[in-house]
Amino acid sequence: MNKLNSDDPRIREAYLYKKLRENSVQCNTCNRRCVIKEGEVGFCKTKKNIEGKLYTLQYGDVSSYSLNPIEKKPAYHFYPGSTALTLGSWSCNFICNWCQNWEISKTPPPPNYSDASLLTPEKVVENATFNPSINGICFSFNEPTLSLEFAYDVFHLLSEDYYKHFVTNGYMTPEALGLLIDVGLNGMTVSFKGTKNIVDCLLDMKVDHVWDNLQIAFQRGVHIELVYLLIPTLNDDEEFIIDFSQKVISKLSDRIPVHFSRYFPSYLAKQPKTSISILQKAHTIAKNEGLKYVYLGNIPGHPFQSTYCPNCSELLIKRDVFSVTFSKLNPNNRCPSCNEQIPIFPHIPIYLNS
Ligand code: SF4
Repeated sequence: MNKLNSDDPRIREAYLYKKLRENSVQCNTCNRRCVIKEGEVGFCKTKKNIEGKLYTLQYGDVSSYSLNPIEKKPAYHFYPGSTALTLGSWSCNFICNWCQNWEISKTPPPPNYSDASLLTPEKVVENATFNPSINGICFSFNEPTLSLEFAYDVFHLLSEDYYKHFVTNGYMTPEALGLLIDVGLNGMTVSFKGTKNIVDCLLDMKVDHVWDNLQIAFQRGVHIELVYLLIPTLNDDEEFIIDFSQKVISKLSDRIPVHFSRYFPSYLAKQPKTSISILQKAHTIAKNEGLKYVYLGNIPGHPFQSTYCPNCSELLIKRDVFSVTFSKLNPNNRCPSCNEQIPIFPHIPIYLNS
């Protein structure tokens, strides 16, 4: 397809690109900033240069659609106990061989739109607002940056009564991040792959771009939680956990929630699943470095899924799998024992189940 197929509703002009000489373009959606010749696609195969203009190939093409507790993202300090209408599309701009969602992240959009599940932004917003149990919209499952145009349009239509959340690798350009924040993005769960010397080479990326974006989002008031998938022999060394924890504190805050998540073999990865003792060790290291809210994920029933007061150790929010089973926080999110202020977004916990 070198010409624009105007019948295909998924093909829309991209929001962020630059025209170059000889009908080439540069995509400015993510930090790969692919230079794409006429007729070719970018690294992620979701953007195509057609006659010197850049188009997304998957506007409204929804691979996955479900209602999820926000705790599943994971996001523990963001509208606890709420439900997110969650959407995903296709492909990724990363090449992790351990991807836990590889069925959609390693697959480009279907060639024919008749094989796709299509939604308009209006329909997504209508679905979200029609159901009283839905509190916000989350783009997740594959890398949502690749659906920048669709996510922007959905968020633009969605009222401020609903939250707007991304589960992302954080590798969008600052321009893309700025567009999303301008249109109301107020929560991000960012998945970290490891420290610079490991992942920059392995994934052909620059993790410093992720830290830069985190600082931009943090300074603009976006709620941030970080996920670190601990993979044996790849990124579970003590020095990596120390380095990561220190960077979270120095670049962001010691109050950022951090989730060390258990890896299970998936896609091409051959390492055995992460032992619980390695996860608990990471928890201890991160706490010793000074992080106040450290959680363990993918271990149903583990006590480190719950929130404890960093000052007096009181159990404050108990979680079981992906639900909040009780909260002892008093109004304004303070510990009932020592009055420590716990960072929960929003400040008044309207969705907490007690
Ligand atoms: S979104 Fe990223 S990977 Fe995809 S074409 Fe644009 S710059 Fe390249």
